[in-house]
Amino acid sequence: MATRFFPNLMPNFVEETSILQNQHTLVHKTIPKQGTDEALFSLISMPYSIISEKLKRAALDLKETVVVQTCGKQVEDFTLYSGTLGTAFLLFKSFLVTQNINDLQLCCQVVEACDAASLHSRDVTFLCGRAGVCALGAVVAKFLGDDKLLQYHLAQFKEITITSNEPDELLYGRAGYLWACLFINQHVGKETISSAYMGSIVNEILKNGRRFDMKGRSSLMFEWYGERYWGAAHGLAGIMHVLLHFDLKPDESEDVKQTLKYMIENRLSTGNYPTSEEDRRRDALVHWCHGAPGVILTLVKAAEVFGDKEFTQAAIDAAEVVWNRGLLKRVGICHGISGNAYSFLSLYRLTGNAEHLYKAKAFSCFLLDRAHKLMSNGEMHGGDSRYSLFEGIGGMAYLFLDMVESNNARFPAYEF
Ligand SMILES: [Zn+2]
Repeated sequence: MATRFFPNLMPNFVEETSILQNQHTLVHKTIPKQGTDEALFSLISMPYSIISEKLKRAALDLKETVVVQTCGKQVEDFTLYSGTLGTAFLLFKSFLVTQNINDLQLCCQVVEACDAASLHSRDVTFLCGRAGVCALGAVVAKFLGDDKLLQYHLAQFKEITITSNEPDELLYGRAGYLWACLFINQHVGKETISSAYMGSIVNEILKNGRRFDMKGRSSLMFEWYGERYWGAAHGLAGIMHVLLHFDLKPDESEDVKQTLKYMIENRLSTGNYPTSEEDRRRDALVHWCHGAPGVILTLVKAAEVFGDKEFTQAAIDAAEVVWNRGLLKRVGICHGISGNAYSFLSLYRLTGNAEHLYKAKAFSCFLLDRAHKLMSNGEMHGGDSRYSLFEGIGGMAYLFLDMVESNNARFPAYEF
């Protein structure tokens, strides 16, 4: 287990130096060598305004690398998760932060390439399917003021059919399709995808979730390839997170709440969350996809929706696990340090507590200071798709952009 993550030797909290102190240090001290504890401590002590500017510059450099490496060639993997659409989503984020219209235009071109490559895809979700292409295409067209293109992507989106064989989870199932609907409605306009239509899919998910005989322990449960997962990518945390964005009837809302309480009551003794019902004792993964980081984001949303302090406290407890074991030897969003940093950003948004923002900053500084070196000497895995949004350095660029305006940070393609 110890080999999955770097020991976190960073202090639990460091007061920022003032801008004046920081300037004084820069003038009077030699700058510590990158990759040393001194260099990392110097970064995490910097005033937020200075470190966020450094992260922004690093993000824009990373974005250029990602664009060079993934664009202008045959699209082999179109998905947002591991393929070219992830570059488009990163460009869209970059546009939102910098207002650089070139990013938006390039994003549009990348989506067009993904559109052609995904025409025959049967996958229906935002992260791994055709819905991601059509939804992002529609939103970018809206931002560009291109109504014809907007109508094209919306029409294509409406061609996607959700069959009765679809799973319910986020990466390949109904929850991931609904996320695309919510994204369209957020940016293009309410009821672009009608509530009645989305409601019918929500009902289908709830019907499937209630079918399991959990002997009264959990109101809802789902299966994906024979396993009843708990995490954000394939299981309860991801499905509950999407359901929490809808106006549910009181009994439905109660089922979501009870399911989350079941998870909290049955978490592991270390505070982490198991991967699945079948694997309730194994405490190995501290990822967004499996484990505490993904659950935290759902608990934060539940705290916002239900106003229940139990969810806030459970999220804070789980964040301890991420702080201690979340400096993974991987860079990405799905199962890497970049994704785990969002546990703290989400909690900061909920509570306003500066300690959570500090921890997000600490994880970001760790990446800024040493990710490249650790990846080049093989101590850190750069992802199976090295430039992708969810596994590669695209995710690190996205996190750094989110650190620029930490109040508005949202886990990509997951939080609204
Ligand atoms: Zn993962």
